Amino acid sequence: MLNKIKKFLLKVSAFFYPVTCSCCGNLMSAVSKERVCINCKNGFDEIKGFVCQKCGLPLEDGGEHCYVCRNTPKKFYFDKMRAAYLYKNSIRKLILKFKYSDRMFLAADLAHGMVNTLKHNAFFDDTDIIIPVPLNIVRKIKRGYNQAALLAEEISKSVSKPVSEKILFRKKITKPQFKLSKKERFDNIKNSFVVKNGDLVKKKNILLVDDIATTSATASACAKVLKEAGASKVCVIALARD
Ligand SMILES: [Zn+2]
Ligand SMILES: [Zn+2]
Repeated sequence: MLNKIKKFLLKVSAFFYPVTCSCCGNLMSAVSKERVCINCKNGFDEIKGFVCQKCGLPLEDGGEHCYVCRNTPKKFYFDKMRAAYLYKNSIRKLILKFKYSDRMFLAADLAHGMVNTLKHNAFFDDTDIIIPVPLNIVRKIKRGYNQAALLAEEISKSVSKPVSEKILFRKKITKPQFKLSKKERFDNIKNSFVVKNGDLVKKKNILLVDDIATTSATASACAKVLKEAGASKVCVIALARD
């Protein structure tokens, strides 16, 4: 009986405040807890098939490593990196809303794909601590939240591992990466992170959470300082890569 009343009330409220898909704007079921419709979800470009064993770059023709990881195996400081989606089409649209339009509530829907990716790769199983890639303080104040931290919180609920935002910090204000060339991105981001409370990461396996990986430069710079502080392993999960 109570359930029936609840459903009825939800329908009434949906009449006045319709629930629409955050991606395409189509009306959704009044009782749905999700914010993205099934059509949009099915259209997300999940990364499946062959990927570089180290950095996770999709490899159309198979093989073990991408060109970069094969030729410069020490270029990236992280041990492994994987991303849930390709940064294009409907998932790109949704991520932009998540990052720039105050749609913090999308974190749960977006983290879902990341959790799936974690479950499909055994090297993530022995994670001790989850650490989000930090924003610099100016950008955090402007935006009001760190989207990687929201994703990390959602992942933590699913995998039952703790999140810490007391370890990894930005030490200088860097130019936004998207304004720079690939070479400039590496230089811009290098040495811009610092570890505090280093004892917390000693001999620990870290899961680093990033939102969009373009060159993997940010993730690598974070992994570098975490390794220098004594972390045993740093694996990275990104929401999407382009
Ligand atoms: Zn939709
Ligand atoms: Zn690679």
